Amino acid sequence: MELYDVTIIGGGPAGLYSAFYSGLRNMKTKIIEVQSILGGKVNIYPEKMLWDVGGQPPIQAQHFIHNLIQQAMTFEPTVCLNTKVDNITKVENYFVIATNDGKLHYSKTILVAVGGGILNPIKLDLEGAKKYEMTNLHYTILGLERFKNKTVLVSGGGNGAIDWAVELLYVAEEVIVVYRKDQLTAHEAQIEKLKAHGVKILLNAKIKKLVSNEEKTIINEVVIDNAGDEQILIVDDILICHGYNREISLTYSKEIQPELHEEYYLVSKGKCMTNIPGIFGAGDIMSYEDKVNLLIGTFQDAVLAVNSAKLFIQPDASKIGMVSSHNDMFEQKNRELLEKIYLS
Ligand SMILES: Cc1cc2nc3c(=O)[nH]c(=O)nc-3n(C[C@H](O)[C@H](O)[C@H](O)COP(=O)(O)OP(=O)(O)OC[C@H]3O[C@@H](n4cnc5c(N)ncnc54)[C@H](O)[C@@H]3O)c2cc1C
Repeated sequence: MELYDVTIIGGGPAGLYSAFYSGLRNMKTKIIEVQSILGGKVNIYPEKMLWDVGGQPPIQAQHFIHNLIQQAMTFEPTVCLNTKVDNITKVENYFVIATNDGKLHYSKTILVAVGGGILNPIKLDLEGAKKYEMTNLHYTILGLERFKNKTVLVSGGGNGAIDWAVELLYVAEEVIVVYRKDQLTAHEAQIEKLKAHGVKILLNAKIKKLVSNEEKTIINEVVIDNAGDEQILIVDDILICHGYNREISLTYSKEIQPELHEEYYLVSKGKCMTNIPGIFGAGDIMSYEDKVNLLIGTFQDAVLAVNSAKLFIQPDASKIGMVSSHNDMFEQKNRELLEKIYLS
């Protein structure tokens, strides 16, 4: 039986930064991620420009993930991809993690970083819509290039929809927003950008029918129910941003049931500890007052959770990790990096 100090469930930003930090704190670390790639939710917006990560110049999300992964691998954690954690139990003084491939993993502590769980986009509930997913009906954008000079209809009014509508402004010929409520619910500044570009925004409106070309391969018209009136829009692509359904991510045995908020989020008892000794959490899965569901928030949580895990295993350890400049583990690496800078 190979026993880890910390097993991180979820390889999104919170899990990745936790892996780096637990390596820094000299803990034997494993990450288990259900997807075939690391990076979590950031993979659903790979081309989005990120402006709000501290100390980071504007960067495309896909490059940001690349950097996060590189950093997470600094101390060579074990990584299990395509592996879903189904259940966690406790035996004596360690946890047993059962995964969907029938394997068991053993760990002194658990760091839950499953974010919003396994997310599936809410699909457009119209007959025949599914077949266009292969062509011009989208639930996320994996590359902006294909929308160059196109007319794109974005359905939705929350942050997901409006962030994409703003990104599309710079490549598409025309962007049209259709939203079922009487006002958009996204960040004001983003809505202002749409308005400044004169984007057509239809409120109290929803997609009623998709009209295809003769071959029935692509949608080329969309019938909108606009507050009871019908309106026909000619489009090249349709992006549906109606939110996500969350699949229950993992379960805990009866004796280690963590306290949950809204039946899903882990309630923090301070320092990203749950009510169950040895189970910690970081990132979007955590719930506490003033929680920030942003990338920067995941990093703060990761540090707190890892430090808590370290003290759980070794109560006499330093309460916080040494900063990188004082940490012996970086001595050799720093020398190599500085040599590269000064000798190049
Ligand atoms: C469209 C969109 C745009 C955004 N834009 C920004 C932005 O500009 N700036 C910003 O700061 N934040 C932004 N965010 C928020 C940011 O992406 C999240 O705060 C961040 O991804 C949370 O990281 P996390 O690691 O907690 O969760 P996630 O990124 O959700 O990662 C959780 C990981 O856990 C895995 N997982 C779940 N269940 C299991 C299981 N049972 N077993 C194994 N693995 C499991 C999932 O597959 C996933 O990889 C945006 C979010 C969205 C949706």
